Amino acid sequence: MHCLDCRTTGTNSPTVGVCRGCGAGVCAAHARIAPRSVRRGSLTGTPCEARVRTVLCPVCAAAEAPVAPALTP
Ligand SMILES: [Zn+2]
Ligand SMILES: [Zn+2]
Repeated sequence: MHCLDCRTTGTNSPTVGVCRGCGAGVCAAHARIAPRSVRRGSLTGTPCEARVRTVLCPVCAAAEAPVAPALTP
């Protein structure tokens, strides 16, 4: 698979990930890695938080940037 953003500029770069938002392939230069925390555990058990990463393309990263703080209280 090739990077979608590089493809539009006539370059064929291999992808290092897939955008979570639109599913486009992104190369190392275009990938935006965003940290995200996921709560695990049941209501009766001890909850714990796991830090995971999210891969976004530049377009989706820009679109999600303004709402990101609201999602992580
Ligand atoms: Zn690229
Ligand atoms: Zn995207």
